[in-house]
Amino acid sequence: MRRFLVILAVLLLLPALSQAVTYWGSTKSKTYHRPACHWINKIKKQHRVSFTDPAEARSAGYRPCETCLPATREPGRTPAP
Ligand SMILES: [Zn+2]
Repeated sequence: MRRFLVILAVLLLLPALSQAVTYWGSTKSKTYHRPACHWINKIKKQHRVSFTDPAEARSAGYRPCETCLPATREPGRTPAP
């Protein structure tokens, strides 16, 4: 019974944790990444910073990673015909 309660608690907490941080930035390169980007593994823990959305990262002065492109759907940046 106790094990069931622990599993239930983890299942309830996981979505909340995964939504809390959706993007990662590097204080050294000033770039931000999608959670699945492999470049995150290259960022040292002391240089990592988390963002909840791309707008928050950009307002903090970070630019999107060229590999995972977290901000390819920016409003007002449609390609010329
Ligand atoms: Zn990236």
